[in-house]
This record gives sequence, structure tokens and C-alpha cells, in this order.
Amino acid sequence: MKRTAGRNVFVTDLAKVLKKMDGAAFADRLGKAGMKGVWIRAGRGPDRDANLTNPKLVSLRTELRKVGVELWGWHVPFCADQPAASDEASKVLKWADDADLAGMAVDAERTPESPRFRGTNREAVTYLKALTKGLDASGRGVAFSSHDQPPLHSNMPFGPFLDYIEDVCPQVYYTSAKPQIRLRKSIDGYKALIPAADFASRYKPTGNITMTEDVAMPDVATCLAATSKFLDLVSDGGFGSCSFWCADNAPDEIWKLFAHTPLAAPQAALAAKPASTRSIPAFAEGKPMNLDAAQLQLNIVQDYVPEGNSNRPGTRMSATSITIHNTDNSSRGANAAAHARYMKGPDAQKRQVSWHFTVDDKYVYQSIPTNEMAWHTATRQGNETSIGIEICMHSDMADVDACYDRAALLTAWLAYRLGMHVPSNVYQHHDWSGKNCPRVLRAKKNGWTDFLASVQNHFRNLGPVDAPMIALPKGDHHHGGPAAQA
Ligand SMILES: [Zn+2]
Repeated sequence: MKRTAGRNVFVTDLAKVLKKMDGAAFADRLGKAGMKGVWIRAGRGPDRDANLTNPKLVSLRTELRKVGVELWGWHVPFCADQPAASDEASKVLKWADDADLAGMAVDAERTPESPRFRGTNREAVTYLKALTKGLDASGRGVAFSSHDQPPLHSNMPFGPFLDYIEDVCPQVYYTSAKPQIRLRKSIDGYKALIPAADFASRYKPTGNITMTEDVAMPDVATCLAATSKFLDLVSDGGFGSCSFWCADNAPDEIWKLFAHTPLAAPQAALAAKPASTRSIPAFAEGKPMNLDAAQLQLNIVQDYVPEGNSNRPGTRMSATSITIHNTDNSSRGANAAAHARYMKGPDAQKRQVSWHFTVDDKYVYQSIPTNEMAWHTATRQGNETSIGIEICMHSDMADVDACYDRAALLTAWLAYRLGMHVPSNVYQHHDWSGKNCPRVLRAKKNGWTDFLASVQNHFRNLGPVDAPMIALPKGDHHHGGPAAQA
């Protein structure tokens, strides 16, 4: 049976989407976003959706074909009893034929407030048997879209749906920038229902976008962060396909994000992405800056703690977050250089403290390489996964704003280079251990949220170094290395 593939996006109200742009423009947008399919609502229960009789549907389908995007439908089965289950299946098959859809997603859900799927296992089987047989006979695909966490919906007969439909596209989209929590719960829930050997080929989550109306997001930035995070989760998890809810209310910026984030081939998904090739579009106001320019502005002095000192254990780390601190030292002269010097001395070794960077209004001092662990969070997990940045607070600092701006730029620059997300991968020391740190930012009204906003702003404006492509001169001037030995 035909399967779902690549990246897909749901549409609930086609007329609304096509009011903003014509079919050719919409198709072009989907093609550039790397979409493999667009899934339009086809009907609820026995009722066909107006999307399928939209006079612009035929020309949209033509435009979609030009850019290689498939037109699928989605149906919400009610199936209150056996006759209803048969009736709905035959209607959906006819709709799919009439609109020449490439496939149908079955959106079967049941919650106390909204029963939707009303049948039992028997009705589910009746509906699914007829539906999948008919779709398969005409070369059309099928997918199952449902609750993200089956254990929360014990009344819903998941069994038959998972027996008849291979592609499982649970709705893990969320209103915060942290879809990872929900995805983790969803995976756990479905792992209990899908044979382990099939899980990787069958689980194809539906994640963020979402904006106003049915799923409100606080702002565009949160929506972008959540979608960007979801794209990474899909890539890192090696899922073969995914979908997004939904195109209707998606902010314009999202299409740039999609266009700049190619869908990784599943087999390559677990290979590390070189940070320098990550392409983040500049959505926000502000001055674009490439990584080299940012590094110059940061003014980084490398003044490493000697290898072998007890507070530089040398343990390798693949950092997944950045932790912000304040130095808690308001003494005159307690600047970045002074802290770097302190870290190399006996007291820091005795107390077993270290961190990666110290920032003041003029310099960044780096004391530990970013791929080595340091002792700054008072928790094992924090130390083993997070880069520590100490922000100075000495009383004789000339330009406090410049210091925090430098710290925000450093955070953004590191996040960009190491493939982290902002602000979701930026923590306070307090998040790890409960310590009141970064004390200054925590004490100031909106101190932390303003700092994160500044990090995000820098992050959005960062871009890769625009280096020209060159070839080495012919001949053996540059010899040696593994390639030459091959
Ligand atoms: Zn701290």
C-alpha cells in the first residue's frame, strides 16, 4: 500500500488559504518548503467538506503536480454503528476518486468533550477494511492521524487502526517551544502498541507549526522555535516522514524556516551536522552578522586552565545546552581576565570549580574548550551536558549593557555553532541546582526574559561565513593526508 513520505502539511480550510494567494503561489510555497504532500480536510463523518468542492481545487492540484507535491485528504470518522461505518468508508472512497486524491489520512480521535469516533472495535474494522481495500485498489495511500498519547484515551479503539494502517502520524504539536517533552511521551505511548521492529518505519509524527484559532501560540517567535525544534527532533530521531499542523494559520516566517531546513535523509539523520553549515534565516529586525564578524566582536581571549589541573578533568562532552551564571563577585577589578586567572589557581582547584567562559564589558575569556566538561552547575547532568558562561558584575564595570549584550551574543554564537536552539537550550544555573544564579538577571524585573530575547535576536541575525568555493591547485604541492594515500 502507498505510504506517506517526506514532509507534509495539513490544511483545514482551503478557501481561506487560497484567499491569501492563488493555487500557483501556494504550490510554489509548498514546493520551496520541501513539502511532499498537502493534506486537506475531506470530511467529517458522512459529510463531505467544502474543500473538495472548492472551484479552485482542480487548478491547485495541477499546480501541485508541477512542483511534485501530492494532494491528500483527511477524514474524521464517526462510525456510530455498523451501517454508518460502511457508509462513511464508501463515501470517503468516492470523494478520493472524485478529487483524485493521492491518499487519505484518517483522523480518528475520541475525547470526552468531543467523541468524534463513536464506534467500537467492530465499527473500526468495518470502516478500515473497506477503506484501505478501496484506497489500495486505486493506488492511493492511507495514514493514521490521532492522539499523541494513547494511554490518555483508553476509550479509543487504537488496535484496529494500527492493524490496518501502517503510517502513524500522531499529533504532537504543542503551544510552547518544547515539543520534545510531548514527542517523548508520544513515542513511549505508541511503542507499547507497535511492534518494536516496525516502530522506526511506522512512526511519523505531526508537529508544530500551529498559531491562532484552534491551537494558540503566544507569539510568532515561539511558533518558529517550536517548529524549528520539531524539525530537529525529526531529523535526530531518524523518522522517515513527518507532517505539520497546519498551513491555515502559519505565520509567513515559517515558510522561510522550512525552505532553509532541508529534510535530512533518514539514514543520514544520526550523523552529526556540521554546525557551520546550519542555515538559520534572519527573520527579525537587526543587523545580519556572520560567524566571523560575531567572533571579532566578542573579543575572545583563550586562556585555558592547564591540562592536568584538577578542575579541568578533560572529560569529553557533546554540549546540548548553555548555562548562564553571574560571578557573584562585585569587588573592584573582578573582571573576565581576573576570573580566568583565578580558575588556573589553587583555590579553584581546591574548590573544584570551573566553567567555560567569563564575560565582561570588553572581553570574553575562555578557560575550558567547549567539548570538555567543567564543574559549574552543582549537578552531574548539568556539568556533563552544558557550557557554562559567567557574567561579571564587578562594581567598577564601565558599561554594564555592553557586558550583557556580549554575553547574549556569545550565547547565540555558541548555540548557532553547536546546533542548539534558543531560547529552549539556554538555562539558568538555578534550573539545575536551585541556586539563586545568575543573581543579577534573576533579581532584575524581566532580567531573564530580556536576556533571552537579546540572545534570540542575535541568533536570528547570525549567518554562515560567505566563503567562496575554491579548488586546490593541480600537482602535489599539497600532499599527504588520508585522501592522498587512498
Ligand atoms: Zn552559577
